[in-house]
Amino acid sequence: MSTGHGGTDTAPTPVVEELGHGFHAYVQLDGSWGLNNCGIFVGESGVVLVDTAFTQRRAHALAAEVDRLTDKPVQALINTHHHGDHTHGNFVFDQAAVIGHRRCRDAMIASGFEVTRWFGGVDFGDIKLVPPFVTFEDSLTVHCDDKAAELHSMGPAHTDNDIVVWVEEIGLLFAGDLVFNGGTPFVLMGSVEGSLRALERLRGYDIRQLVPGHGPVCGPEAIGDQIDYLTFVRDVAGSSFDARVSPLDAARDTDLGRFAAWTDPERLVGNLHRAHSELRGEPLATPLDYHRIVDEMIDYNGGSPLRCLA
Ligand SMILES: [Zn+2]
Repeated sequence: MSTGHGGTDTAPTPVVEELGHGFHAYVQLDGSWGLNNCGIFVGESGVVLVDTAFTQRRAHALAAEVDRLTDKPVQALINTHHHGDHTHGNFVFDQAAVIGHRRCRDAMIASGFEVTRWFGGVDFGDIKLVPPFVTFEDSLTVHCDDKAAELHSMGPAHTDNDIVVWVEEIGLLFAGDLVFNGGTPFVLMGSVEGSLRALERLRGYDIRQLVPGHGPVCGPEAIGDQIDYLTFVRDVAGSSFDARVSPLDAARDTDLGRFAAWTDPERLVGNLHRAHSELRGEPLATPLDYHRIVDEMIDYNGGSPLRCLA
Protein backbone atom coordinates (compact mmCIF):
# COMPACT_ATOMS: atom_id res chain seq x y z
CA MET A 1 0.00 0.00 0.00
CA SER A 2 1.46 3.33 -0.98
CA THR A 3 0.81 6.61 0.68
CA GLY A 4 1.89 10.03 -0.37
CA HIS A 5 1.42 13.45 1.08
CA GLY A 6 -0.64 13.83 4.24
CA GLY A 7 -3.97 12.17 4.91
CA THR A 8 -4.68 8.81 6.48
CA ASP A 9 -3.12 5.68 5.04
CA THR A 10 -6.11 3.36 5.24
CA ALA A 11 -9.45 3.61 3.48
CA PRO A 12 -12.76 3.01 5.26
CA THR A 13 -14.70 -0.17 4.51
CA PRO A 14 -16.88 0.30 1.39
CA VAL A 15 -20.57 0.85 2.05
CA VAL A 16 -23.76 0.03 0.15
CA GLU A 17 -26.34 2.81 -0.05
CA GLU A 18 -29.93 2.09 -1.07
CA LEU A 19 -31.20 4.50 -3.70
CA GLY A 20 -34.68 3.03 -4.20
CA HIS A 21 -36.36 0.81 -6.83
CA GLY A 22 -33.63 -1.83 -6.50
CA PHE A 23 -30.74 0.55 -7.20
CA HIS A 24 -27.77 0.85 -4.86
CA ALA A 25 -24.49 2.71 -4.77
CA TYR A 26 -21.34 0.88 -3.66
CA VAL A 27 -19.20 3.67 -2.24
CA GLN A 28 -15.46 3.39 -1.64
CA LEU A 29 -14.25 6.38 0.30
CA ASP A 30 -12.26 8.54 0.45
CA GLY A 31 -12.69 8.49 -3.31
CA SER A 32 -9.04 9.30 -4.03
CA TRP A 33 -6.88 7.46 -6.62
CA GLY A 34 -8.26 3.97 -7.26
CA LEU A 35 -11.23 4.23 -4.88
CA ASN A 36 -14.23 4.48 -7.19
CA ASN A 37 -17.96 3.93 -6.82
CA CYS A 38 -20.10 1.24 -8.40
CA GLY A 39 -23.82 0.81 -9.02
CA ILE A 40 -25.76 -2.33 -8.14
CA PHE A 41 -29.27 -2.89 -9.50
CA VAL A 42 -31.00 -5.88 -7.93
CA GLY A 43 -33.82 -7.03 -10.16
CA GLU A 44 -36.32 -9.88 -10.19
CA SER A 45 -34.20 -12.14 -12.37
CA GLY A 46 -30.71 -10.75 -11.97
CA VAL A 47 -28.28 -7.99 -11.21
CA VAL A 48 -26.93 -5.15 -13.32
CA LEU A 49 -23.65 -3.65 -12.17
CA VAL A 50 -22.11 -0.32 -13.03
CA ASP A 51 -18.30 -0.60 -12.88
CA THR A 52 -16.08 -2.80 -10.71
CA ALA A 53 -12.91 -2.15 -8.71
CA PHE A 54 -9.17 -1.56 -9.03
CA THR A 55 -7.79 -4.70 -7.36
CA GLN A 56 -8.76 -8.35 -7.16
CA ARG A 57 -9.36 -8.02 -3.42
CA ARG A 58 -11.69 -5.04 -3.86
CA ALA A 59 -13.55 -6.72 -6.75
CA HIS A 60 -14.16 -9.78 -4.57
CA ALA A 61 -15.41 -7.51 -1.78
CA LEU A 62 -17.88 -5.99 -4.28
CA ALA A 63 -19.01 -9.47 -5.35
CA ALA A 64 -19.53 -10.41 -1.70
CA GLU A 65 -21.81 -7.40 -1.20
CA VAL A 66 -23.82 -8.37 -4.30
CA ASP A 67 -24.18 -11.90 -2.87
CA ARG A 68 -25.35 -10.42 0.42
CA LEU A 69 -28.08 -8.46 -1.41
CA THR A 70 -29.36 -11.30 -3.61
CA ASP A 71 -28.74 -14.85 -4.81
CA LYS A 72 -29.51 -13.78 -8.39
CA PRO A 73 -26.70 -13.76 -10.99
CA VAL A 74 -24.96 -10.66 -12.32
CA GLN A 75 -26.32 -10.55 -15.87
CA ALA A 76 -24.91 -7.28 -17.12
CA LEU A 77 -21.94 -5.12 -16.21
CA ILE A 78 -21.70 -1.59 -17.55
CA ASN A 79 -18.31 0.15 -17.68
CA THR A 80 -18.53 3.95 -17.56
CA HIS A 81 -15.01 4.24 -19.09
CA HIS A 82 -11.82 2.22 -19.47
CA HIS A 83 -9.85 3.21 -16.35
CA GLY A 84 -8.62 0.33 -14.23
CA ASP A 85 -10.42 1.29 -11.04
CA HIS A 86 -13.71 0.92 -12.93
CA THR A 87 -12.77 -2.15 -14.99
CA HIS A 88 -9.99 -4.29 -13.47
CA GLY A 89 -12.58 -6.30 -11.52
CA ASN A 90 -14.66 -7.18 -14.61
CA PHE A 91 -13.19 -10.68 -14.67
CA VAL A 92 -14.76 -11.56 -11.31
CA PHE A 93 -18.25 -11.34 -12.88
CA ASP A 94 -17.63 -13.91 -15.57
CA GLN A 95 -21.30 -14.64 -16.38
CA ALA A 96 -22.11 -11.02 -17.14
CA ALA A 97 -22.42 -9.30 -20.51
CA VAL A 98 -19.85 -6.51 -20.24
CA ILE A 99 -21.17 -3.34 -21.87
CA GLY A 100 -19.30 -0.15 -22.71
CA HIS A 101 -18.54 2.39 -25.35
CA ARG A 102 -16.71 1.03 -28.38
CA ARG A 103 -13.73 3.24 -27.57
CA CYS A 104 -13.75 1.89 -23.98
CA ARG A 105 -13.06 -1.56 -25.41
CA ASP A 106 -10.37 -0.12 -27.71
CA ALA A 107 -8.70 1.78 -24.85
CA MET A 108 -8.68 -1.22 -22.52
CA ILE A 109 -7.09 -3.39 -25.17
CA ALA A 110 -4.55 -0.71 -26.07
CA SER A 111 -3.54 0.20 -22.51
CA GLY A 112 -3.80 -3.18 -20.76
CA PHE A 113 -2.50 -2.86 -17.21
CA GLU A 114 -0.12 0.01 -18.01
CA VAL A 115 -1.61 2.18 -15.27
CA THR A 116 -0.42 -0.21 -12.54
CA ARG A 117 3.11 1.17 -12.87
CA TRP A 118 1.94 4.49 -11.38
CA PHE A 119 0.77 2.69 -8.25
CA GLY A 120 3.75 0.56 -7.31
CA GLY A 121 2.66 0.01 -3.72
CA VAL A 122 -0.75 -1.47 -4.60
CA ASP A 123 -1.37 -5.24 -4.51
CA PHE A 124 -3.51 -5.70 -7.64
CA GLY A 125 -3.78 -9.48 -7.21
CA ASP A 126 -4.26 -11.76 -10.20
CA ILE A 127 -6.32 -9.45 -12.40
CA LYS A 128 -7.33 -10.40 -15.95
CA LEU A 129 -8.36 -8.02 -18.71
CA VAL A 130 -12.02 -8.34 -19.74
CA PRO A 131 -13.00 -5.45 -22.03
CA PRO A 132 -16.65 -4.78 -22.89
CA PHE A 133 -17.87 -7.20 -25.56
CA VAL A 134 -21.18 -5.42 -26.10
CA THR A 135 -20.34 -1.96 -27.40
CA PHE A 136 -22.21 1.03 -28.74
CA GLU A 137 -21.55 4.52 -30.11
CA ASP A 138 -24.21 6.99 -28.94
CA SER A 139 -26.75 5.37 -26.65
CA LEU A 140 -28.19 2.07 -25.50
CA THR A 141 -30.95 1.14 -23.07
CA VAL A 142 -30.56 -1.53 -20.39
CA HIS A 143 -33.91 -2.54 -18.91
CA CYS A 144 -33.75 -2.88 -15.13
CA ASP A 145 -37.11 -4.62 -14.62
CA ASP A 146 -39.58 -1.84 -15.41
CA LYS A 147 -37.00 0.99 -15.26
CA ALA A 148 -35.04 2.04 -18.34
CA ALA A 149 -31.38 2.78 -17.68
CA GLU A 150 -30.18 4.88 -20.59
CA LEU A 151 -26.49 4.73 -21.46
CA HIS A 152 -25.36 7.93 -23.15
CA SER A 153 -21.97 8.63 -24.67
CA MET A 154 -20.47 11.80 -23.14
CA GLY A 155 -16.89 11.77 -24.35
CA PRO A 156 -14.43 13.10 -24.84
CA ALA A 157 -14.64 14.35 -21.25
CA HIS A 158 -12.75 12.53 -18.48
CA THR A 159 -11.49 10.12 -21.19
CA ASP A 160 -12.38 9.64 -24.86
CA ASN A 161 -14.92 6.93 -24.00
CA ASP A 162 -17.12 8.14 -21.11
CA ILE A 163 -20.75 7.16 -20.76
CA VAL A 164 -23.29 7.98 -18.08
CA VAL A 165 -26.12 5.75 -16.86
CA TRP A 166 -29.34 7.73 -16.57
CA VAL A 167 -32.53 6.37 -15.00
CA GLU A 168 -34.75 9.29 -15.91
CA GLU A 169 -37.94 7.99 -14.32
CA ILE A 170 -36.40 8.25 -10.85
CA GLY A 171 -33.88 11.04 -11.54
CA LEU A 172 -30.89 8.80 -10.83
CA LEU A 173 -27.57 9.43 -12.57
CA PHE A 174 -24.43 7.30 -12.43
CA ALA A 175 -22.02 9.94 -13.69
CA GLY A 176 -18.81 7.91 -13.89
CA ASP A 177 -15.72 10.11 -13.63
CA LEU A 178 -17.45 13.13 -15.11
CA VAL A 179 -18.00 13.90 -11.43
CA PHE A 180 -15.54 13.61 -8.55
CA ASN A 181 -17.34 14.67 -5.39
CA GLY A 182 -14.71 16.04 -3.02
CA GLY A 183 -11.91 15.03 -5.36
CA THR A 184 -10.03 16.91 -8.04
CA PRO A 185 -11.43 16.32 -11.53
CA PHE A 186 -8.94 14.68 -13.89
CA VAL A 187 -9.15 15.22 -17.63
CA LEU A 188 -5.57 14.44 -18.71
CA MET A 189 -6.81 11.57 -20.92
CA GLY A 190 -9.92 13.40 -22.06
CA SER A 191 -10.71 17.04 -22.64
CA VAL A 192 -11.30 20.25 -20.72
CA GLU A 193 -13.61 21.64 -23.39
CA GLY A 194 -15.36 18.30 -23.86
CA SER A 195 -15.87 17.94 -20.11
CA LEU A 196 -17.39 21.39 -19.85
CA ARG A 197 -19.72 20.55 -22.72
CA ALA A 198 -20.71 17.21 -21.17
CA LEU A 199 -21.31 18.80 -17.77
CA GLU A 200 -23.49 21.51 -19.31
CA ARG A 201 -25.44 18.72 -21.00
CA LEU A 202 -25.90 16.98 -17.64
CA ARG A 203 -27.20 20.25 -16.18
CA GLY A 204 -30.17 19.75 -18.46
CA TYR A 205 -31.07 16.46 -16.75
CA ASP A 206 -33.59 16.54 -13.89
CA ILE A 207 -31.24 14.81 -11.41
CA ARG A 208 -32.39 13.92 -7.92
CA GLN A 209 -29.59 11.55 -6.90
CA LEU A 210 -26.12 11.51 -8.42
CA VAL A 211 -23.62 8.71 -7.94
CA PRO A 212 -20.25 10.24 -8.82
CA GLY A 213 -17.34 8.15 -10.07
CA HIS A 214 -15.57 8.97 -6.82
CA GLY A 215 -16.77 10.42 -3.51
CA PRO A 216 -20.06 10.41 -1.63
CA VAL A 217 -23.46 10.16 -3.32
CA CYS A 218 -24.75 13.69 -3.90
CA GLY A 219 -27.17 15.84 -5.82
CA PRO A 220 -26.77 17.82 -9.03
CA GLU A 221 -24.92 20.64 -7.24
CA ALA A 222 -21.70 18.63 -7.68
CA ILE A 223 -21.89 19.31 -11.42
CA GLY A 224 -21.50 23.04 -10.80
CA ASP A 225 -18.38 22.38 -8.69
CA GLN A 226 -16.80 20.43 -11.56
CA ILE A 227 -17.62 23.24 -13.99
CA ASP A 228 -16.11 25.81 -11.59
CA TYR A 229 -12.87 23.83 -11.30
CA LEU A 230 -12.51 23.20 -15.03
CA THR A 231 -13.23 26.85 -15.78
CA PHE A 232 -10.47 27.72 -13.31
CA VAL A 233 -8.13 25.28 -15.11
CA ARG A 234 -9.01 26.86 -18.43
CA ASP A 235 -8.20 30.33 -17.07
CA VAL A 236 -4.84 29.26 -15.59
CA ALA A 237 -4.02 27.44 -18.82
CA GLY A 238 -4.87 30.48 -20.94
CA SER A 239 -2.53 32.82 -19.09
CA SER A 240 0.30 30.30 -18.74
CA PHE A 241 0.05 29.32 -22.40
CA ASP A 242 0.24 32.98 -23.49
CA ALA A 243 3.23 33.54 -21.17
CA ARG A 244 4.94 30.34 -22.40
CA VAL A 245 4.98 28.92 -18.87
CA SER A 246 4.97 25.12 -18.66
CA PRO A 247 2.01 23.30 -17.09
CA LEU A 248 4.19 22.16 -14.16
CA ASP A 249 5.51 25.66 -13.43
CA ALA A 250 2.04 27.14 -13.85
CA ALA A 251 0.63 24.58 -11.40
CA ARG A 252 3.35 25.39 -8.87
CA ASP A 253 2.55 29.11 -9.16
CA THR A 254 -1.19 28.61 -8.79
CA ASP A 255 -3.14 29.04 -5.56
CA LEU A 256 -5.84 26.36 -5.66
CA GLY A 257 -8.08 28.35 -3.32
CA ARG A 258 -11.15 26.37 -2.30
CA PHE A 259 -10.11 23.48 -4.57
CA ALA A 260 -7.09 22.81 -2.33
CA ALA A 261 -9.37 20.92 0.05
CA TRP A 262 -10.11 18.28 -2.59
CA THR A 263 -8.12 15.04 -2.78
CA ASP A 264 -5.37 14.56 -5.38
CA PRO A 265 -4.58 18.24 -6.11
CA GLU A 266 -1.58 17.20 -8.27
CA ARG A 267 -4.09 16.44 -11.03
CA LEU A 268 -3.86 20.17 -11.82
CA VAL A 269 -0.60 19.43 -13.66
CA GLY A 270 -2.24 16.84 -15.91
CA ASN A 271 -5.30 19.01 -16.44
CA LEU A 272 -3.10 21.93 -17.53
CA HIS A 273 -1.26 19.69 -19.98
CA ARG A 274 -4.60 18.77 -21.51
CA ALA A 275 -5.71 22.40 -21.63
CA HIS A 276 -2.43 23.44 -23.29
CA SER A 277 -2.93 20.71 -25.89
CA GLU A 278 -6.32 22.20 -26.69
CA LEU A 279 -4.82 25.71 -26.85
CA ARG A 280 -2.29 24.37 -29.38
CA GLY A 281 -5.30 23.46 -31.48
CA GLU A 282 -4.83 19.71 -31.20
CA PRO A 283 -7.96 17.55 -31.56
CA LEU A 284 -9.75 16.81 -28.27
CA ALA A 285 -8.32 13.77 -26.43
CA THR A 286 -5.16 13.67 -28.56
CA PRO A 287 -2.84 11.15 -26.83
CA LEU A 288 -0.12 12.86 -24.76
CA ASP A 289 2.95 11.43 -23.01
CA TYR A 290 1.04 10.25 -19.93
CA HIS A 291 4.01 8.65 -18.21
CA ARG A 292 6.06 11.84 -18.37
CA ILE A 293 3.12 13.92 -17.19
CA VAL A 294 2.41 11.63 -14.23
CA ASP A 295 6.08 12.00 -13.31
CA GLU A 296 5.51 15.76 -13.26
CA MET A 297 2.48 15.29 -11.00
CA ILE A 298 4.74 13.38 -8.64
CA ASP A 299 7.29 16.23 -8.83
CA TYR A 300 4.50 18.67 -7.94
CA ASN A 301 3.92 16.54 -4.82
CA GLY A 302 7.58 16.91 -3.87
CA GLY A 303 8.45 13.45 -5.19
CA SER A 304 5.83 11.52 -3.19
CA PRO A 305 4.13 8.72 -5.16
CA LEU A 306 0.44 9.13 -6.02
CA ARG A 307 -1.52 8.43 -2.86
CA CYS A 308 -3.53 5.27 -3.51
CA LEU A 309 -5.33 3.37 -0.75
CA ALA A 310 -6.85 0.71 -3.03
ZN1 LIG B 1 -11.41 7.40 -14.41
